[in-house]
Amino acid sequence: SKQQLIERRIADYIRTNRGRGIQNAAALLIDTRSMDVLAQIGSADFFNAEIQGQVDGTRAPRSPGSTLKPFVYALALEQGLIHPLSILADAPRTFGEYNPENFDREFLGPIRACDALARSRNLPAVELAAQLRHPTLYEFLRGAGVKLPRSESLYGLALPLGGAEVTMEDLVRLYAALANNGELRPLRRTSRDPIASRGRRIIMPEAAFLTLDMLNQPRPEIGAAYSDQAAPVFWKTGTSHGFHDAWSIAVFNHYVLAIWIGNFDGRANGAFVGRTAAAPVLFQIIDSLRTTWPEPNEPHLPPPGANLKRVSFCAVSGDLPGEHCTQQLEGWFIPGISPITQCDVHQEVLVDAASGLRVARDDGTRQLRHEIYEFWPTEMLSIFQRAGVARKVPPPFLPGTDPEVAARMGNPPRITTPAAGQKIMLPLDKTIPLLAKTDGDVGEIYWFAGRTFIGKARPHEVFSWNASAGDYVLTALDDHGRAGSCSVIVR
Ligand SMILES: [Zn+2]
Repeated sequence: SKQQLIERRIADYIRTNRGRGIQNAAALLIDTRSMDVLAQIGSADFFNAEIQGQVDGTRAPRSPGSTLKPFVYALALEQGLIHPLSILADAPRTFGEYNPENFDREFLGPIRACDALARSRNLPAVELAAQLRHPTLYEFLRGAGVKLPRSESLYGLALPLGGAEVTMEDLVRLYAALANNGELRPLRRTSRDPIASRGRRIIMPEAAFLTLDMLNQPRPEIGAAYSDQAAPVFWKTGTSHGFHDAWSIAVFNHYVLAIWIGNFDGRANGAFVGRTAAAPVLFQIIDSLRTTWPEPNEPHLPPPGANLKRVSFCAVSGDLPGEHCTQQLEGWFIPGISPITQCDVHQEVLVDAASGLRVARDDGTRQLRHEIYEFWPTEMLSIFQRAGVARKVPPPFLPGTDPEVAARMGNPPRITTPAAGQKIMLPLDKTIPLLAKTDGDVGEIYWFAGRTFIGKARPHEVFSWNASAGDYVLTALDDHGRAGSCSVIVR
């Protein structure tokens, strides 16, 4: 039976992983069609007092780590906050006194919603959870019958990161609702229990479908490029704060399987990480079940009549592509609900062919080119910068072409050589040294004599100007669009 098969797999796993301090586990397998409990392993060994083997790990409330995150995304999809390819910010942020950080203590910068869930990033999940309304994650869990003894404000924003204890049975019921088009049904322990033909809708079917779709990730032992569309496994892991509990839970074929690894006495172990401690045995069991009870694997398709559309998105902004968006990506959205705007990140600008600098309009005096650049909101751009991700942002305007130039932050370059108003005798080699003092954030200085671009130099680098006699206004323009000028006379 499935019960015996899972018991055997868990016993094998604990035998081979005892060296890592893994000595107890719990597991629950249900059929999502009938909600029948097919296997229930409360502990690795009922008769072993050392591991408190008589505790039922499927009913004990424990911190679920990140295993509730998919429901944050499901609610965010349903409430029109995101679609799977929306760009979220994985960036340091403070929520009042709460300073969440990621498991790896790093910040990836802007990230697609589907990747943020698949990679279990904490900041995007907390940020989304903070935006949820009617229901919030707390209201949703309470509505689904999860016992949360404290008030919403006491759990606060740690709730999506495992801040409230839940049982494995709760997790399995919730994941089964994802598999059942958003309908919650009670578990069925004996054949005497009635089969609920219809459940209670707790998630819109479209959001349930998209959430599972986002959880169809490559298995832990397989490279990131691989994803099995023919025999999908929708799975998530969780690691509780302080390494007390390692979780993994999967929806596959018509089943939900949950695995917990930990100690009933609460002893922590650095090896209790969902992905490395609980996911391997989860997949071993799934593989065994699939060979022993071969059922046809089915591709993941939207439920009949679902209000879902598959369209192209701009791969960079996650918005609907405009004519200048060259990288595109196919994805789902829920018409009438998902946030859909035209990409305004990619815009075409006119640049001066000689300097590569931007001009506001073609006045017929210069040779110009059309080029596509990315226009990001300042906040997003600084998140990219902090994450060390370079973006193709537009060059500054040519000096004097736009009043915007004057409005920039920081100090404009100050020309130190030659001095302002200086009368210069043209040397025999006809080159005049130019030097400007700039702010520390400057990478390049563009030099102009009057309206003519004469060349580029690095800060602190003397630029040699090939001059001829005349009266000039010299301009040094930095790559942030700030400019300083001085007049000189060359004779
Ligand atoms: Zn675009």
